[in-house]
Amino acid sequence: MSKFFSKKYDSLEAYTPGEQPRDQQYVKLNTNESPFPPAPQVVKAATEEAGRLQLYSDPESANVTRAVAERYGVEPENVLMVNGSDEILNFAFMAFGDADHPFVFPDISYGFYPVFAEVNHVPYREIPLKENFTIGVEDYCNVNANVVIANPNAPTGLLLSVEQIEQIVASNPDHVVIIDEAYIDFGGVSCIPLIQKYDNLLVTQTFSKSRSLAGGRLGYGIASAELIRDLNTIKYSTNPYNVNRMTAACGKAAIEADDYYQKNAKTIAANRAFTTSALRARDFEILPSAANFIFVKPPFCSGEELYLGLKQRGVLIRHWNKPRIAPWCRITIGTLEQMQALLHAIDKMMEESK
Ligand code: PMP
Repeated sequence: MSKFFSKKYDSLEAYTPGEQPRDQQYVKLNTNESPFPPAPQVVKAATEEAGRLQLYSDPESANVTRAVAERYGVEPENVLMVNGSDEILNFAFMAFGDADHPFVFPDISYGFYPVFAEVNHVPYREIPLKENFTIGVEDYCNVNANVVIANPNAPTGLLLSVEQIEQIVASNPDHVVIIDEAYIDFGGVSCIPLIQKYDNLLVTQTFSKSRSLAGGRLGYGIASAELIRDLNTIKYSTNPYNVNRMTAACGKAAIEADDYYQKNAKTIAANRAFTTSALRARDFEILPSAANFIFVKPPFCSGEELYLGLKQRGVLIRHWNKPRIAPWCRITIGTLEQMQALLHAIDKMMEESK
């Protein structure tokens, strides 16, 4: 830290993204990206738009906003496009959090939530997941705080029903409830329709996972027009051109290629079922996942040993050295070939551990 770094960030611990190593070709199952490329018309849209990069992007991202609004049956005033859903989550902490409006979220969830709270000096409380890693819905009812929940949760993959989410939203009418649906397309039901009934609900989604656009950086929030206006105030106070021209064009083309992405999401769900049963047959403990990853506990070694052993064999997965989840690892679901490479590497490790 330089002598110039503001003291207000003294205790800030930055978020650690999953590794993106360049030293060798890994079977990359560590950052929940899609193994499938963007649809051809998305690549075409990016190429065409590249020729207009001398011009600023549309600060309203009107074309892709309209496409997203139509796709989800809401009005454009209910949608805010952002530079990856991380950006709207940060905007939400900025817009709605302060000493009188703290945040609560599960103790085991997306590791960025406490960082957004810290960087914006928003007080927060982490609510422990139950022993079986599920979210206790009653723990989030009448909490007198803003709430953020990933649904399905990460890294567990466990899903709450729309009815459970509604209970939380309805019981906190004076606070904002953010439902982070980054992984909803792999087996969950979105709670977007609830925004018509509740003015305190913000649903965030991303193009990074089911729509194969992690490197394009595109996400969005859907909420009441009032909440979207507040978030726009933050956006226009930080980065009005937050979505670049190429990405906005890709986003619109991706919405138009919905069939392609829905088919890919189904393939991921099938590969998830295949991998889950193959690992269960090898005595792994696995939580039932609605996401494009599974949370697994190996029977023959620690979580860290599984992570390191697989890395050595060219397969990257994610492990956290944190209380409760240290024996577990998160594995992104990829193509069937990638899953077979994973199983092959695990079998080698199991043999050697005998
Ligand atoms: N929410 C969750 C739960 C995530 O795992 C991620 C991906 N790291 C994000 C949000 C943010 O994704 P992006 O900024 O790429 O939209």
